[in-house]
Amino acid sequence: MKQIGLIGWRGMVGSVLLERMRAERDFDHVQPTFFSTSQAGGQAPSIGRAVGPVLDANDLDALKKLPILISCQGGDYTQAVHGKLRAGGWDGYWIDAASALRMAKDSVVVLDPVNLPVMQAAKRSGVKDFIGGNCTVSLMLMGLSGLVREDLVEWISAMTYQSASGAGAQNMRELLAQMGALYEAAKPLLADARTSILDIDRVVNEALGSSALPTEHFGVPLAASLIPWIDKDLGNGQSREEWKATAEANKILGLAPGTLAVEGVCVRVSAMRCHSQALTLKLKRELSQQEIERIILSGNPWVRVVPNDREHSMRELSPAAVSGKLTVPIGRLRRLAMGPLYWSAFTVGDQLLWGAAEPLRRTLRFLID
Ligand code: NAP
Repeated sequence: MKQIGLIGWRGMVGSVLLERMRAERDFDHVQPTFFSTSQAGGQAPSIGRAVGPVLDANDLDALKKLPILISCQGGDYTQAVHGKLRAGGWDGYWIDAASALRMAKDSVVVLDPVNLPVMQAAKRSGVKDFIGGNCTVSLMLMGLSGLVREDLVEWISAMTYQSASGAGAQNMRELLAQMGALYEAAKPLLADARTSILDIDRVVNEALGSSALPTEHFGVPLAASLIPWIDKDLGNGQSREEWKATAEANKILGLAPGTLAVEGVCVRVSAMRCHSQALTLKLKRELSQQEIERIILSGNPWVRVVPNDREHSMRELSPAAVSGKLTVPIGRLRRLAMGPLYWSAFTVGDQLLWGAAEPLRRTLRFLID
């Protein structure tokens, strides 16, 4: 049985990863050692059989003994440890959720339903760093993989509606705390059906601007609002999250940098754990409605085409409908008035599954099988 080390299993991505590994019986194939930067000596999580105590995630000698390490700890940890392990001669497989090594020249960004041939070629050529992609980019490619594989897409504009979970566990808590604070402010007025809606709106607005509203993690209100900037400011009018779209999409697809342009505005909205994206596509040739749906469906077993009508869109194409599911619905497919090659689409996916944990556990199986 292959020995593996798991680092970062207590966090949000790590917890979902463990849940999925248990569900898919991945632990039947590997013997894990659990590491933590803060809980060394503590009890390892339950995997249905005995495992040793949690080891120190900064103990390079302990890490080096393992042929495969999976880290969901975060970019700072990767930066601190990965280079030292490699410099010390460690030649194992490093599977990582963090973005730190995604654009490194000797890493591959993993999303096997979309880029298995790229992963296979990387493994054959001796690549050892297998890195999970940005959640939004991965979910977009899951939805569009059929069209992309047939080289039908000239460019993509992606306007995103990204959930709180993409920012981490503390941010999800803060969103709920903000929602609670707004509700509490309006509660006495809501109880009386005769209250003017403008009075209710006024107290909510006051609460949104109040210093009592918890904003430690987001910096500003997200509940009853949105944040049109995600990740760092690159200083050229683009956020780092927006930059990742073209950079990572091309790397995942094994294309030369910039071959497929994916541009747009990334926006944080008050969904809990599913990212949505409104897409405009320019195709390379004309397709009928039937053809585009057939090609999208052929992309992978998880993509679902949602009929472009009100009822299906409302029921099947929302974070509430998709949360906790591996399916990636795509709908609102319509040829646009700009010309026969322009299409709209809307897709939603659970960013903790295909956007984070799922590609990692599948990469583990890919490497050991
Ligand atoms: P997280 O929830 O903040 O967890 C990261 C680590 O923080 C944990 O593994 C744990 O490591 C430590 N930690 C400290 N206090 C904790 C507590 N009270 N509960 C749980 N863990 C605690 O981070 P994450 O969202 O899982 O993200 C991990 C990495 O994946 C990041 O690099 C992120 O950019 C990347 N990523 C995240 C997402 C996402 O949707 N959030 C998607 C794709 C990629 P120790 O055991 O060592 O203390």
